[in-house]
Amino acid sequence: MLTRRTDLEGCWWCGARADSREHKLKKTDLQREFGRPFRQTPLRLREERLEAIQGPGSDLVKFTANLCSSCNNTRSQPFDYAYDRFVSYVAGHDRHILASRRIDLRIAFGQGWRLAAEDTLRYLVKHIGCRLAQNEIEVPARLTAFLDGGDRPDGELALEIEIRGDIAEISRAGLGGGLGLGDLLLTDFDEDRQATVVESHLDYRWLRFAWGVGEELGGYPLPFAAPLLRLPVGRSLPPGELRKQIRESAAAGDQVGGAT
Ligand SMILES: [Zn+2]
Repeated sequence: MLTRRTDLEGCWWCGARADSREHKLKKTDLQREFGRPFRQTPLRLREERLEAIQGPGSDLVKFTANLCSSCNNTRSQPFDYAYDRFVSYVAGHDRHILASRRIDLRIAFGQGWRLAAEDTLRYLVKHIGCRLAQNEIEVPARLTAFLDGGDRPDGELALEIEIRGDIAEISRAGLGGGLGLGDLLLTDFDEDRQATVVESHLDYRWLRFAWGVGEELGGYPLPFAAPLLRLPVGRSLPPGELRKQIRESAAAGDQVGGAT
């Protein structure tokens, strides 16, 4: 069962006072997509209203303080760095990755790929932990133990990295695609109607990190263990539908984010 977070003042990772705000959308991703300072104003769509994001330091792209500065900076620095390397590789090899539908982690990271791949997974777990904490859901102990160097949280975390064909098509048409967060959805319940699984996703251009946290997620082997990362093509919206949505919602720029 997912439990409600009780210590809203504490760092969800170590328990110290939370005084640091992690980016919902990574600062380096925002700068890579939109320039530094932003060449154009990315927009976020929230509750049917558009808000402009002024720069990569904007409050709109950060979580509330739910980590301490030591965890958010020092302790997780290798994870942030590994994820940056992974996404930079994706950004620089998009045609090849879209055509082959796979990423060779040995090429993306070079020597030492195993640790870099594991640290990329840890960055994603940190991101997921911040989303859970932001939404007052307790971060399961096996997720924090994994960040501390423990075993992979198989069975309590599901993560699928997939290509969104419809977004890839839009990117090719020069309509952007940008960065985004999915809504947080409770998707499974026990007999007492208590939520047991929560799901959402993080999008970088056409690459979707779809995740779930909860019970009995053992049927979904976690990525980043094998050297070849195969990328299934995820469910797409009907042709034209996503394009229409993006046109309507972000006529002046790229759409960013949505959910918290
Ligand atoms: Zn901490």
